[in-house]
Amino acid sequence: MTEVLESIQQSWNDKLNNNKKIAKILKAVQGENAVYPDVEELSYEIGQELANTYKEYFPQLLKDGYMPEDIAREILESTLKSDYDIVSDAAVDVQTVLNTKAGIGLNAVRPEYDIDRVEGLIKYLIENEYLNIELSFLESVVNYSQHTVDQSISDNAEFHKNAGFQPIIVRKLVGGACEFCKQRAGTWDYSDDMSNFVFERHLNCKCTIQYIPSKQKIVLIRNYKKGKKKKQ
Ligand SMILES: [Zn+2]
Repeated sequence: MTEVLESIQQSWNDKLNNNKKIAKILKAVQGENAVYPDVEELSYEIGQELANTYKEYFPQLLKDGYMPEDIAREILESTLKSDYDIVSDAAVDVQTVLNTKAGIGLNAVRPEYDIDRVEGLIKYLIENEYLNIELSFLESVVNYSQHTVDQSISDNAEFHKNAGFQPIIVRKLVGGACEFCKQRAGTWDYSDDMSNFVFERHLNCKCTIQYIPSKQKIVLIRNYKKGKKKKQ
């Protein structure tokens, strides 16, 4: 591990430890009333602190305005994996609590590690002049962190659907309600192609996505593809 990666990890770690909001959310996440929006908030804060750390270090690492690939790879592959590890651990904890509460005797599924997103971020970072893309790159890092939680909901709902239950996903608007999010907000029957719609997030989207499992097997709500939803 190079010195710069070590410094970045240390600095990120310090930020996480000094972040009072994170300490508070962690308590909620580890509590018996934990729900998905708690993990989402956690993923947002952790990703934001990682982005803050990149912002401090990256401008000094550029060569002719660009981030060299070897440095980008070393830093991103390691820190984005750590981000995934922290967030997916929290997601597994919450899903375990939710399953137990619902009386569902299944283990929580750890969300898949999205290597394509990591590669996408590396590519975006090295192929563009850094200062031109700094803001959107940093927001994409936060979006990446949030995605692990959305993936956890998706993977667990898929697992429950295959076990014969009918998962219901609730997406709620937070902050400035843009058209993109308004279309996706509401109560939906889970279906396996939802990642292309209900789980999509634009940069800086803080909408909450909630999945509370139950043993319900009857379809009460209509499929989003048919253009109907139960309520906004
Ligand atoms: Zn949104």
